[in-house]
Amino acid sequence: MLNILFSAKPAAWDEYEKPLNAAFKAAGLQANLSRDHAPEDVDYIIFTPSGPVKDFTPFTKTKAVMGLWAGVETIVDNPTLTQPLCRLVDESLTAGMVEWVTGHTLRHHLGMDLHITRQDGVWRDTIVPPVAANRPVTILGIGALGAACGQALHALGFPVTGWSRSSKDIPNIRCLHGDEGLREALTGAQVVILLLPQTPQTENILNSETLSLTKKGSFVINPGRGPLIDDAALLAAIDSGQVAHGTLDVFRTEPLPQDDPYWAHPQVTVTPHIASTTRPETAATVITENIQRGEAGKPFRYLVDRSLGY
Ligand code: NAP
Repeated sequence: MLNILFSAKPAAWDEYEKPLNAAFKAAGLQANLSRDHAPEDVDYIIFTPSGPVKDFTPFTKTKAVMGLWAGVETIVDNPTLTQPLCRLVDESLTAGMVEWVTGHTLRHHLGMDLHITRQDGVWRDTIVPPVAANRPVTILGIGALGAACGQALHALGFPVTGWSRSSKDIPNIRCLHGDEGLREALTGAQVVILLLPQTPQTENILNSETLSLTKKGSFVINPGRGPLIDDAALLAAIDSGQVAHGTLDVFRTEPLPQDDPYWAHPQVTVTPHIASTTRPETAATVITENIQRGEAGKPFRYLVDRSLGY
């Protein structure tokens, strides 16, 4: 019998207890899921940074920490965490992100706001948007989420360029990497989507210099993490017309303070970190499979590389 500790905020227990136990049962995994195991008895921890466990030192026999979040920036530097850390890659989380990203891309591409916000009885000459094939989209970060968004945007007809740390070959996406690749990826981009993790290397990746490479009047969509953007540079780029609109789901400070200039700016859309979320049923299956891999002596999937920070 495996002792599995659930360490997340109390409301998450109500959401996850049943799906996790159901997934363990369906997989034939003998597991005792609890919020109260003695640390020295715990085999696996199912974890979010908002839960009670902050010090991993007493978890002497724990084989892995299974995160319920895709982003790991608040845990990856914890010096007490010596156990393997897995982040979450979940088909429902990915599907939700694809929907959010394609929805906001199409909103800007089609100029939907013009008709949604101006129902004033005036029959105006239509402004015809280019077809998607003439609207290049660049996705910074083509991992689990970015690559899936890239496929969906390609299916809609957008030319998709993706940028990553390592060299990649993904069908339907022009893949670039490294510093030179970043310049090339952003040059002429009309929609820039940020799906990078927050690490020291990715902080302020979108700044006055990189924003200036995009086509004038570009759109910036950030469901990645707030620190990926130099906020002052983005606001300046919007005010100069270099960027037409910023749709931002994540911020340096969350909740975004009431007096933050983003709230009041007419060319900024703020969404409250809702681009996508982990769904208990599918996440429970992913975590169960990963625990089974550990028990079978196979390498864990979605293992975080602590030296890279994601
Ligand atoms: P992932 O699979 O780890 O993909 C990360 C991508 O970023 C990879 O392509 C990686 O390159 C690239 N990357 C990392 N560091 C880089 C660097 N220094 N230079 C260039 N590229 C770099 O992560 P994911 O599951 O797609 O998630 C991405 C992020 O989305 C998460 O970290 C989280 O912050 C965010 N997120 C937000 C929400 C929301 O609701 N707003 C929900 C879920 C996740 P390689 O391919 O070469 O490794």
